[in-house]
Amino acid sequence: MTQEEVLEVDILICGAGVVGLAIAMTLAKKYSVAVVEQHPGPARETSSHNSGVIHAGIYYETGSLKHRLCQEGNRRIYEWCESHSVDAVQSGKLIVAFDNSELDQLQEVYQQGIKNTVPDFEQITMKKINDLEPELNVAGALWSPWTGVVDAYNLAKSYERAALEANTIIAYQHKLTNINKLGSQFVSTLTDTNQHISTIKSDVLVNSSGLMADQIASMAGYPLGGDEKKGLPVLSQSINRGRYYDIINPDICRLISRPIYPLPDHQAGGLGVHLTTDTNGGLHLGPSMEWMNEDEIPQYQNEPDEVWLAAFLDAGVRFLPHLKKEHLAPGQVGYRPKIQKEGEGLTDFLIWRDKGYIHLGGIESPGLTASLPIADQVKNLID
Ligand SMILES: Cc1cc2nc3c(=O)[nH]c(=O)nc-3n(C[C@H](O)[C@H](O)[C@H](O)COP(=O)(O)OP(=O)(O)OC[C@H]3O[C@@H](n4cnc5c(N)ncnc54)[C@H](O)[C@@H]3O)c2cc1C
Repeated sequence: MTQEEVLEVDILICGAGVVGLAIAMTLAKKYSVAVVEQHPGPARETSSHNSGVIHAGIYYETGSLKHRLCQEGNRRIYEWCESHSVDAVQSGKLIVAFDNSELDQLQEVYQQGIKNTVPDFEQITMKKINDLEPELNVAGALWSPWTGVVDAYNLAKSYERAALEANTIIAYQHKLTNINKLGSQFVSTLTDTNQHISTIKSDVLVNSSGLMADQIASMAGYPLGGDEKKGLPVLSQSINRGRYYDIINPDICRLISRPIYPLPDHQAGGLGVHLTTDTNGGLHLGPSMEWMNEDEIPQYQNEPDEVWLAAFLDAGVRFLPHLKKEHLAPGQVGYRPKIQKEGEGLTDFLIWRDKGYIHLGGIESPGLTASLPIADQVKNLID
């Protein structure tokens, strides 16, 4: 956009990640919609730096948004991928106990999955474990046949296409730099890469800015610490790094056919370093759980590091006893926007509305899986 331009739309969405684009295509059927995104294309941050797993809703607190939207998203994402030519594989996944000492906790995960009515979730026999994954040497496993993997970047591209077909305006390489209110209208300032300024006026502002959601909320005038008396939720976010190591030996990659998860580490805030397949036959170990300092800036390079290499090898040999250092290379790095702080355990997604402002906070995993139902939630709030 040029300096003089002022655009007026019903809804402005900040963020062209998988969630922002799902919201855009959903709302554009009924409203005029614009999306502002600082990068040159869609899904350049968390939406393309993740495990790409289509989760089945096993771990989350029963009835939470994560549970309900993940489970609905699981079904819908397979349908969407089928009808929009996005690669997705319903591989199923195993959650394993490596030795007898882990069997009680495996039982707890099973009970949570049953409580969450995860379809066809079962405890399986050693024979079935062996049939599914002959290389695994474990004491027990749970089988989730509806878990799968998706090409996350192309999923976002397919949402982008649908949004554009429904006449959404997407302003790439424009950063949302200021938000003012004029009556009930939002007057948002966009700055492009040449420092040109433009303005978008909208009745609704949807903050789907991922890692920056708290900063955008602050720009819109909200205190980040929350205020119970005023009905303001905590909007501040902490960032948690998840790094991966890729398994680069094709013979080793061929040994495993589906994601294999250890027991989750809810206290640490994650599902534990797992083994993930992708839609291209690749095999990856990750993600780590690394709480970042407030002043640290996410870097998407995963520099070779002997300490991390040793840590990933330790995690990897539990799944693949023949894994060696030379089979591993630094993979991608992703960043989780978390509402909770270190040691606080799991929290839910935050989808919060204050008049025309809609805030999406803590959209970590399973945000990819839940992207379509999250978009419906936002539409319901606006409708
Ligand atoms: C390590 C890791 C593994 C994961 N694994 C899975 C998984 O297996 N399955 C699953 O379902 N989910 C998974 N997730 C979660 C999933 O990736 C996210 O929930 C999802 O990608 C969030 O999408 P988003 O659109 O909210 O955020 P993002 O993709 O981060 O998009 C936000 C966008 O907002 C833009 N933006 C921010 N500020 C501004 C501004 N001021 N102006 C303009 N643009 C701005 C950013 O550039 C960015 O593109 C994982 C996440 C991580 C980190």
